[in-house]
Amino acid sequence: MFTLPDQNLSWTVNRLAGRTLAGLLCVAICAPIGSATNGAEQAPNSSAVQPAASPTNVQSASNVDETKISPAGIRKLSGKHITLYTDLSPQPSVDELPAVFDQAVALWQEFLGLDKAECERFHIRGAVMRDRERFKTAGLLPPSVPDFQNGWTGKGEFWINDQSSEYYRRHLMLHEGTHGIMFAVQKSQGPPWYMEGVAELLATHRWKDGQLAVGVFPSDAAEVPKLGRIEIVQTEFARNRALKLRDVLAYDNRAHLQNEPYAWSWAAVAFFHEHPRYRERFSRLLKKPARQDFNAQMRTIFENDRQALAEEWQIFVANLVHGYDFERMAIDLNTDAAPIQGNAEFDVAANRGWQNTRLLVEKGRRYRIAGEGEFLLGTKPQPWVSQANGITLRYHHGLPLGVLLAGIRGTTATPEIRPNGGPPQETENKHQAEPSDRVTLINPAVIGTAATFVAPRTGVLYLRVNDSAGGLADNSGTLAVRVFEQPN
Ligand SMILES: [Zn+2]
Repeated sequence: MFTLPDQNLSWTVNRLAGRTLAGLLCVAICAPIGSATNGAEQAPNSSAVQPAASPTNVQSASNVDETKISPAGIRKLSGKHITLYTDLSPQPSVDELPAVFDQAVALWQEFLGLDKAECERFHIRGAVMRDRERFKTAGLLPPSVPDFQNGWTGKGEFWINDQSSEYYRRHLMLHEGTHGIMFAVQKSQGPPWYMEGVAELLATHRWKDGQLAVGVFPSDAAEVPKLGRIEIVQTEFARNRALKLRDVLAYDNRAHLQNEPYAWSWAAVAFFHEHPRYRERFSRLLKKPARQDFNAQMRTIFENDRQALAEEWQIFVANLVHGYDFERMAIDLNTDAAPIQGNAEFDVAANRGWQNTRLLVEKGRRYRIAGEGEFLLGTKPQPWVSQANGITLRYHHGLPLGVLLAGIRGTTATPEIRPNGGPPQETENKHQAEPSDRVTLINPAVIGTAATFVAPRTGVLYLRVNDSAGGLADNSGTLAVRVFEQPN
């Protein structure tokens, strides 16, 4: 077990102070996180680092000698916004890349609030390479471009190494394209977590029936082969290496030489982009050019949400799954709660995450919590009827699906995260909550049908039934819960 020492966000930018970000921002370090060995980008090579793109230089990709292209075994694919060179043989998933890119430009324009006329003119050159030597021969890969592992963006052009997954090939192209349009049209030079996180957000896509959607939250792993961002965060959490939000925001311009920072940067941007309490403000930020004071702007805009952000980030990280349901997992953080007098009742909705009972439990006092009734945990292939003990045929976080859980959100105490991100520590009787100062929304007590509960701290009582953060939408019904104080 470890204790997070400080729940307050301090939007530390010290590590970035005095360092130019331009170098980072023109190199896109794009790693398929799905495979550990096929990892991070190369270190930015100073000889290849370009100044941040500007409207005058972005179109100035080096000249191409067209007579060398075909003899080198390279094809030229032309779209409205991209000229793509590739040595991959003709096949639909390759030949359609310019069409994918062209649709992306219109979507990026919306997301980033870009000038339409400038987007109309936006054009970039790209290379999807299987054999880099061919591109060198054709003059399409100048010596100034370092020996990167997956992707690299320079002035008005980018290069990516081919990927085994069609999804990830498109993803890399869209990642570099996002950098390209953010430099060229938006003229953004924000901090590393933001630039890489937004590139990841706007590269994460669906491509179905000739229609592109970007900025999607993956609904399952099969939808995004070889992406692996969610798995990285899950693994890091399980290994007790979960990052606080402030740690992600403080990434310096060398951090993205590793795989994990891509996952954390994406997770942070996706969190702000999706969370119902923060997304509108974040969307306004997305639509403005990001500068090196971006974190300071964030601090100002979210000044009153620091504590909430830190807590909700932890809950997001601890529960991150494909299809994470931000709406149903959002938490009422109101601390306006009344002490329990007599018999308090609360209906727990099966289709939501933690629910604020507005009941105050006080440290050292003994409470009885009991759940009654039936609710549904799904409808396919048949209705999954559950009671407060849960369904022992299915598990989540090592506990029966549907089992009643209780958490205390202290108003002053520090929440904790379990080291392995797993279920609450088991007791001899799983349905008997034990006194513990570790009862939090990350590390709840298991109540089941009924349990006596000595409050380890004073705080607001939260209840929920156990389920995946991606599995709430098909639940229905409520569990009637009674809470009353028992004499010690
Ligand atoms: Zn990048």
